[in-house]
Amino acid sequence: VTATQLDRVVVVGAGLAGLRAAEALRAGGFAGRLDVVGAERHPPYTRPPLSKAVLVGEATLDDCALHGADALDAHWRLGAPAAALDLSAREIKLFGGERLPFDGLVLATGAHARPWPGDAPAPAGALVLRDADDAERLRAALSTGPRRVLVVGAGFIGSEVVSAAAALGHAVALVELEPQPLARLLGPQAGALIAAAHRAHGVGLRTGTTVERFAAGGAAHLSDGTRIAADVCVLALGAVPSSGWLEGSGVALDRGIVCAADLRVLGDDGAAPLDRVVAAGDVVRWPHPLLTAPGEEPLGVGHWSNAAEQGAHAARTLLATAAGVERGEPFGEIPTFWSAIHDLRLRSVGVPALADETCLLEGDLSERRGVIGYLRAGRLVGALAIDANRRAAAYRDRIGQPLTDATPSALRSTGTAPSTPGR
Ligand SMILES: Cc1cc2nc3c(=O)[nH]c(=O)nc-3n(C[C@H](O)[C@H](O)[C@H](O)COP(=O)(O)OP(=O)(O)OC[C@H]3O[C@@H](n4cnc5c(N)ncnc54)[C@H](O)[C@@H]3O)c2cc1C
Repeated sequence: VTATQLDRVVVVGAGLAGLRAAEALRAGGFAGRLDVVGAERHPPYTRPPLSKAVLVGEATLDDCALHGADALDAHWRLGAPAAALDLSAREIKLFGGERLPFDGLVLATGAHARPWPGDAPAPAGALVLRDADDAERLRAALSTGPRRVLVVGAGFIGSEVVSAAAALGHAVALVELEPQPLARLLGPQAGALIAAAHRAHGVGLRTGTTVERFAAGGAAHLSDGTRIAADVCVLALGAVPSSGWLEGSGVALDRGIVCAADLRVLGDDGAAPLDRVVAAGDVVRWPHPLLTAPGEEPLGVGHWSNAAEQGAHAARTLLATAAGVERGEPFGEIPTFWSAIHDLRLRSVGVPALADETCLLEGDLSERRGVIGYLRAGRLVGALAIDANRRAAAYRDRIGQPLTDATPSALRSTGTAPSTPGR
């Protein structure tokens, strides 16, 4: 039995994970018909510059293009979102009614910006940032001024947007529900450094508060009684996996697509993997061999390197199982992430949000430089390098291991870990 027995593969999602999956299918010998379905009209591009260099005019959207799509001999259906999956007919249905039959399927629909949750509507013209069109709208809004910019949500995207807006000379306010920016993901020590960086760059940071309602004209009324008037309002409330179109299809869904360790998609009827259906990228939750203990919730990771590596891995699993192998290799790459917030350079390995304890591995945080270690039950689950980018990689091989040689420090005490495990 050979991989050539796959005649028709459909990849849904023309982003990073979808592109890497298509490349790995061809590299792995798949010579059949390949359809790539993308909701956006753009060919695949990379998102990290959208909240950084693009906003300050140091890169254009053309600079973000991911190359390699042309060489794949694929049928690209861009600007054509998939509407439904019919597992019994083995077809993807597009909006407009067209049906694409498949014998192998890769689901890589990523995530979208979390919409405003309040009962009262978000202000007309409030912006979000997930895709290239969003970035173009935000870049245009920030290209004149100075203006009053309000960013709601101090996660990575919100903090990066604030950095860009402050660098462009705008008057920036940042509102965050948690006590520190990014504390839920990186813990309060890193949160305090990021908060200090915001304040040092003139950002009006208000933590522990939220927008209760937006008044006509865009002014935000906060739960602490403050009113913030703004010309530009950006909602940076996090990302939601784009799996809603699969409701009722037979795919196991739980805040994303639930997969087996080898990235085969599970069915919703008792968790057996579906035949020749795999998934990759931000839309996936899967049991990580090192980071997910037995019985624990599967992991979801919204990082660039994870999407790229999962795309290729899912394709290899599809080829192997179509060739008769019972299951693919478990996907056990260690997630990595980088971010630039004002003059702070952050790089993480592992998943700091899983920790119940933190420690200082290197450096001195009072000098804004060092490596924070994140532990769960005494084992390293993440490390965050602050202005010490190259040091993060040193801990990659130690993820999942017990940590015996950490510097005892004031960081090591209860209550200092990220507050909520999760995405
Ligand atoms: C502004 C921004 C900055 C970022 N910066 C960093 C960073 O500095 N470092 C880092 O590690 N990560 C960063 N990330 C995260 C990283 O970009 C994502 O992890 C990565 O893009 C995920 O790739 P993906 O292919 O899984 O999903 P996506 O890139 O979201 O691609 C999925 C594609 O599927 C399409 N789609 C959705 N639904 C359908 C449907 N029904 N039919 C067809 N197509 C569909 C979407 O339109 C999209 O084009 C950033 C993300 C954003 C938005």
